[in-house]
Amino acid sequence: MTQVYNFSSGPAVLPRDVLLTVQAEMTDWHGSGMCVMEMSHRGKEFTQIIHEAETDFRKLLNIPANYKVLFLQGGAHFNFGMVPLNLATESSVVDYVDTGHWSRIAIKEARRYAKVNVVASNEDRNGTYVPDVASWKRSDNAAYLHYCSNETIGGVEFPSTPEVDIPLVCDMSSNILSRPLDISRYGLIYAGAQKNIGPSGMTLAIIREDLLGKARVGTPTMLDYQVHADADSLYNTPPTFAIYVAGLVFKWLLANGGIGAMEARNIEKAALLYETIDNSNGFYNCPVERPFRSRMNVPFRLVDEALDDAFLEGAQAHGLLQLKGHRSVGGMRASIYNAMPLEGVRALTEFMRDFARSK
Ligand code: PMP
Repeated sequence: MTQVYNFSSGPAVLPRDVLLTVQAEMTDWHGSGMCVMEMSHRGKEFTQIIHEAETDFRKLLNIPANYKVLFLQGGAHFNFGMVPLNLATESSVVDYVDTGHWSRIAIKEARRYAKVNVVASNEDRNGTYVPDVASWKRSDNAAYLHYCSNETIGGVEFPSTPEVDIPLVCDMSSNILSRPLDISRYGLIYAGAQKNIGPSGMTLAIIREDLLGKARVGTPTMLDYQVHADADSLYNTPPTFAIYVAGLVFKWLLANGGIGAMEARNIEKAALLYETIDNSNGFYNCPVERPFRSRMNVPFRLVDEALDDAFLEGAQAHGLLQLKGHRSVGGMRASIYNAMPLEGVRALTEFMRDFARSK
């Protein structure tokens, strides 16, 4: 097979070494004679797998002891509802920052369960920036402040963690593990696995212990963070295979220098791609304002949209896959998560330059 590079926004590329390990262990995990898919989630083998996954994840992000790590299901979407159900009452005010598509889905869901105050929105400049924290119109008594650290569709990323004095809640689905974090600044972080963690079907949450046990009456059992914390993520049958693969990704990250090394790689990859766009004499453009350009998801357009199909076909022929932008915005999008090697971005930028030259 020829070399391909997969720029999907998620489910997304996984480290090749991880896939090879999965392949090697598929029918016999560590001499057990079983595939991980076939194991009881309460047996000693899977107990070891989930324990190691949590330990390695904690090590990677330096997670303090007073935070629980939860392996959940239901994707980030479940958490859009879980957050207000667990951290607010019906009459609570909850603050949300709107920086794009995923912020708005979170806001819409939260409105079903609490009084949402949108502290700032980037709609005025077409979703291309993060409004300055000093301009946010925060409530006096909000139960928490929610934001999305990286808008996967718009390609807008917070350059740093906002400073607030109430529980900070973050949808980190598309940039968790891509840069170092001070977990102690957060009350709750959640992230769907299928971008920077592992296969879809698993969602990670990191929650400060004092925020547990506050779910409102009537909250479905499965949507109560406390239930999962008390059961060490084994209240019901968890997505065992996804947890196993995520655990291998964590080991791969540790073996490759951890989050600091990943950040350096991610900066280099993103810089190369944005430079190619910016130095294309207007052939390509990226609408996102520079300080807020995502290191993970790079949306770009061809100035002449009539060339979009030829670009995508040419890219495909060069083994550069899944570059079509989200259906809501069109254009192109290259997602360059941790598992995308620098060589993949080099191959893409070479193709982009050649394509522009040929027109
Ligand atoms: N938030 C962000 C930032 C996302 O990128 C996505 C998925 N693309 C979601 C939420 C929704 O995730 P899920 O499909 O896992 O519910």
